[in-house]
Amino acid sequence: MKLQIVYDNQAEKDFKSGWGFACLVDERILFDTGEEPKSLLDNLARLGLEPTRIEAVVISHDHWDHTGGLWKLLQKRPGLPVYGCPGFSRGFKNKVALLGGRLIECAGYTEIEPNIAVSGEIMGEYKSAPLPEQALMVKTALGLALITGCSHPGIIQVVKTVRHQLPKEKIRIVLGGFHMKAMDQKDIDSIIETLQKLGVERIGPTHCTGQTAQKSFAQKFGKNFLTVRAGAEFTV
Ligand SMILES: [Zn+2]
Ligand SMILES: [Zn+2]
Repeated sequence: MKLQIVYDNQAEKDFKSGWGFACLVDERILFDTGEEPKSLLDNLARLGLEPTRIEAVVISHDHWDHTGGLWKLLQKRPGLPVYGCPGFSRGFKNKVALLGGRLIECAGYTEIEPNIAVSGEIMGEYKSAPLPEQALMVKTALGLALITGCSHPGIIQVVKTVRHQLPKEKIRIVLGGFHMKAMDQKDIDSIIETLQKLGVERIGPTHCTGQTAQKSFAQKFGKNFLTVRAGAEFTV
């Protein structure tokens, strides 16, 4: 199955960059939507993908840099299923309904289709307020590919939740935002060590992970470090 990064702070040649994240799974299921709708649509067009081909959108958490492109997509594709969490804001839920989206609130593990699922709500914190977030997982022959938005609950918490939900699956890949910008080196090293102990094989930190953490991941994971940016494509 193909994972295509369609929104990121960094971009490959001919792709637009912007603050936020979005990853397209199997050319049909969009995880997060970045900040600027135009950049998202331009990046999709660059890959030859019509937004009307998107069958479902998963929103990791209710932050502008992950929901920004959703509203334009809903206008282009009314009735689009949107996988969110019960704890998302009333404003978010109302807007999805107003634009004709079909909101599916995932309290816990929810299958979108046999090999694609969301973790459902994992509680995190942002600016001292509770913030629910979910991750997307794709089951492959080699293990799980796990895609995260900002990992506000902590990347370790996200990986542990998914391991608990699917204890038999190996964790082949984790990619997305890990929210490690403000961390010191000691905490960064400890998180990397824990992820390796949890059996994470390949890693693609991006977005809000922070450059210091990204460098450390690259060092510790070596050839299993993935460079994630808009335009990048991974087969899982
Ligand atoms: Zn973010
Ligand atoms: Zn966020």
